[in-house]
Amino acid sequence: MSAPKLKILLASPRGFCAGVTRAVQIVSTALKKFGTPVYVRHEIVHNKYVVQTLADQGAVFVNELDEVPDGAVVIFSAHGVPVSVIEEANRRRLTTIDATCPLVEKVHREARKNLENGRKTLLIGHKGHPEVIGTMGQIPADEIKLVSSVADIDTIPAEWADKLGYVTQTTLSLDETAELLQALKSSFPAIVKPNQNDICYATTNRQRAVKAIAGQCDLLMVIGAPNSSNSKRLVEVAKDAGCPRSVLVQRAADINLNDLSEVKTLGITAGASAPEILVKEVIGTLSEHFDITLSEHTETEEKVSFPLPASLRE
Ligand code: SF4
Repeated sequence: MSAPKLKILLASPRGFCAGVTRAVQIVSTALKKFGTPVYVRHEIVHNKYVVQTLADQGAVFVNELDEVPDGAVVIFSAHGVPVSVIEEANRRRLTTIDATCPLVEKVHREARKNLENGRKTLLIGHKGHPEVIGTMGQIPADEIKLVSSVADIDTIPAEWADKLGYVTQTTLSLDETAELLQALKSSFPAIVKPNQNDICYATTNRQRAVKAIAGQCDLLMVIGAPNSSNSKRLVEVAKDAGCPRSVLVQRAADINLNDLSEVKTLGITAGASAPEILVKEVIGTLSEHFDITLSEHTETEEKVSFPLPASLRE
């Protein structure tokens, strides 16, 4: 019996963004420069395959600095860290390398600028995400407040009304954030916005590419980790853009073939921390069960790259 036909529509851009590429390069370059072990505080990016590959090369992933021995080299993840973590590392005279994405650093600078200008900061984001913890930790706790939903607007102190600025997590849904911002602006017309949109180019481009194909797909598969904010947003964006079903899979072994029984056209994308090798793995596995035809929709070309920190460029 011949294999059932399956049309695969690949969204582009997908997968690694410039911040993730840089963070992964930072760990592998540090391993070459300093030898093993090099410690990494938190998953360098939210992807188990990437973390395991670097662990196999000698990186040691830890949750907190107290797991890092004196005199060791420690790398901070792409999501950024609170100032208190940097201070603690300096106090302990650890050799630190900061893999915080430059676009997350931009958000940190905006929060500090609000403080310098006498404004309180609202951070639009998801509680508990490392990027949110890092941004909240840039300025004193009574100067910044997390807003995750329209309902949270009611909890903003009334006396903050005339001295407010906002920043956002870089990996939010463009549409959902637009709704929340609209509500914020009508409650606080004088609120100061960031110079440039904080939702980064990679989040924007991956969401737009998914939107462009969602209506043509019976199912959209996002390759990414369950703790990856931008991957989870891609699942939501696909549904909101008219795809009847969308699922998150970490890699080929997670594919449930029953999910595909009625599917004629399958969309595939990958979150900003998922490497292309996992996309290839998924397509390879699908081709063992289906007679596939593959086409790619390119929404835009990306040419962004970030240099390594000066200490690793020598
Ligand atoms: S998703 Fe955006 S902010 Fe996050 S690491 Fe990638 S480029 Fe940087």
